[in-house]
Amino acid sequence: MDRVYLDNAATTRIDPEVFQAMKPYFEEEYANPSSSYRFAGAINGKIQKVREEIAGFLGAKSQEIFFTSGGSESDNWAIKGIADSLREKGNHIITTKIEHHAVLHTCEFLERHGYEVTYLEVDEFGLVDPKEFEEAIKPNTILASVMFANNEIGTIQPIPELGRIAHEHGVLFHTDAVQAFGHIPIDVQKMNIDLLSASAHKLNGPKGVGLLYIKSGVKLSNLIHGGAQERGRRAGTTNAPGIIGFGKAVSLAKERLEESAAYEKKLRDKLIQRVTAEIPYTKFNGHPEKRLPNNANFCFRFVEGESLLILLDQKGICASSGSACTSGALDPSHVLLAIGLPHEIAHGSVRFTLSRETTEEEIDYTVDTLKEIVDRLRSMSPLYEDFVAKSQNKA
Ligand SMILES: *Cc1c(COP(=O)(O)O)cnc(C)c1O
Repeated sequence: MDRVYLDNAATTRIDPEVFQAMKPYFEEEYANPSSSYRFAGAINGKIQKVREEIAGFLGAKSQEIFFTSGGSESDNWAIKGIADSLREKGNHIITTKIEHHAVLHTCEFLERHGYEVTYLEVDEFGLVDPKEFEEAIKPNTILASVMFANNEIGTIQPIPELGRIAHEHGVLFHTDAVQAFGHIPIDVQKMNIDLLSASAHKLNGPKGVGLLYIKSGVKLSNLIHGGAQERGRRAGTTNAPGIIGFGKAVSLAKERLEESAAYEKKLRDKLIQRVTAEIPYTKFNGHPEKRLPNNANFCFRFVEGESLLILLDQKGICASSGSACTSGALDPSHVLLAIGLPHEIAHGSVRFTLSRETTEEEIDYTVDTLKEIVDRLRSMSPLYEDFVAKSQNKA
């Protein structure tokens, strides 16, 4: 096969309908939406419609949706914005050890500037314990940030419960929902969310556009200073084609959510079932049920993840060793270490993330190829030889 793309957590292919919806805003409707002539006004009207549609999808109001350049910016804005605006009230932030680097590195930055951060542990499935979460709250806690669904192992957190606990203690609740948004249902009101980050390119939209939901009444400082765009809260020329593409991606996601999730889940379960049955010494990572419909993550003992990825690539299969942001780094994934895997096993992890375009044929090809490659790599591993010899002695 030419190419089997199983890295949809890193980014997705833009939907042709999304691309079509964006095109006129490059070629014909190219005005700066902040200008005062009618040429700009029509674009503004369209952007307002998109804002309403996306707000509706989240159970929010349109004036609570702020467009940004993507998930990373939204995470930075939420956390730095609250840290700055509530500095007088407190300097303590709670997050988890398995967040995306957009959250973790933002928190580390704040630690260098006088803030105190608690990084909560997770259990072997990657779940935060609501009791530990509550115990971490102190009088000076201003914000908790817990991701909706993990980008490496797919685990979905008990967000409504964590949000409720935060509110009982007067703490604001942010969630990085970049992997969840458009893939599983989210309602910010019912789920007790004050701030939520999302990104268009993770749901077949364009790269470079995202949003931050900010609940009415929540005050946070600006991150990007300059012009008066986004009602004075986020400067920068409005990305009209991007926002319109984002809107189209959301309307498609809304239509297809259940159908896509059921389809991906079926193929994902086949992948998990075949891999764990046919490849010995394999560990399946993340929670068996509380996980994204399209995510499967495995560790293959005695195999180096990076070598595996290179050989998969030679067979046309695009997968990842966890996060696209850490590949190339020799450190094992912080997420796999947090779920308690020892270094040598965490090194051998591979993440497959499916899409509604993935076929059963591709899954079968992937498992067949994976079996061959894991066998080949193990046959070259002295550790594996020792292990087999020892287990034979025992038997
Ligand atoms: C991809 C991703 C981000 C970053 O989003 P960008 O739009 O690429 O900046 C943040 N958090 C999670 C969980 C992600 O998967």
